[in-house]
Amino acid sequence: RAMSSVTIPPPKCMLRPLEVPFRYLFGPGPSNVPPRVLAAGGRGIIGHLHPEMYEIMNDIKKGIQYAFQTQNNMTIAMSGSGHAAMECAVFNTVELGESVLVAVNGIWGERVAEIAERMGANVHIMVKAPGGVFSNGEIEKALAKHKPVLFFLTHGESSAGLAHPVDGIGDLCRKHNTLFLVDTVASLGASPIFMDQQNIDILYTGSQKALNAPPGTAPISFNERACQKMFNRKTKPVSYLFDMAHLSNYWGNDGQPGLEESWRHHKEVAGYLWKGLEDMGLKLFIQNKDLRLPSVTTIAIPEGYNWREMLQYIMKHHNMEMTGGLGPSTGMVSVRGMLKF
Ligand code: PMP
Repeated sequence: RAMSSVTIPPPKCMLRPLEVPFRYLFGPGPSNVPPRVLAAGGRGIIGHLHPEMYEIMNDIKKGIQYAFQTQNNMTIAMSGSGHAAMECAVFNTVELGESVLVAVNGIWGERVAEIAERMGANVHIMVKAPGGVFSNGEIEKALAKHKPVLFFLTHGESSAGLAHPVDGIGDLCRKHNTLFLVDTVASLGASPIFMDQQNIDILYTGSQKALNAPPGTAPISFNERACQKMFNRKTKPVSYLFDMAHLSNYWGNDGQPGLEESWRHHKEVAGYLWKGLEDMGLKLFIQNKDLRLPSVTTIAIPEGYNWREMLQYIMKHHNMEMTGGLGPSTGMVSVRGMLKF
């Protein structure tokens, strides 16, 4: 029997409009989202590589830098909930067998300890009852004993309702050559945190709590110390999706997309366009490839055609604006202007 017929009918639920009740969200998150944020989510889709998308990403980065009070270049919003940032932070900064110290005074420390264990770190925990506070003296003792590459602390312990003090701990971590990782999923925007001033090496949060956005985005920032460790690894991180080598490139944080990158990109993209036009039998006005401007491609008007009619046709049928030549080249060329990618 040919496998071409549908045997599973469309479910009824797909045939009726989606209903979402209004709820007052007074739990620790998600929180209600203001109309402006909801409206932003209803905007049209654009490509993830479009220039406007990079502009939006840059704006998001600036917003996170402000919210985190940091100037760290390596600041991004991850796709995923807070857990994604937890894994991203640990996976990128720790290698197999390295020592990790986790302060456990509620579920979030427990969970980071488990994440680190799963990736094969040598995990040490300092435990207090839910809501317990670790003194800087206790933390320093544990740092000296376990010599961890990473120390984790939850700033806003949502399972206990505790805002853990952070002052001074970053300095202790520096002294012991440890990266200081702080979870602010439940606290950022509600309780003061100053990433740079408090010498926090890695900080992350979630979108759906005090930031009042839908769940699914996790802002995270790494300072220079964290980048040094993260980008000088001997092994690749266990997760491909959360590998900061890729993510930082996409966010334009790895120093690659500068002027040279933009020139290279324009040349590459223009090359495709030139080849496509020539394959269609059109002749390019500038014959020497090396002399062609990558941002403005000039096409010689084929013999016997009226350039104005051609441009009007293209506009009418393909919604593409192209212009004629200028001044002395009027009527000689058609310009596909400003290919911006
Ligand atoms: N850390 C803390 C302190 C949290 O409160 C939460 C969420 N309750 C998380 C991490 C995990 O975030 P998410 O649910 O967005 O994965």
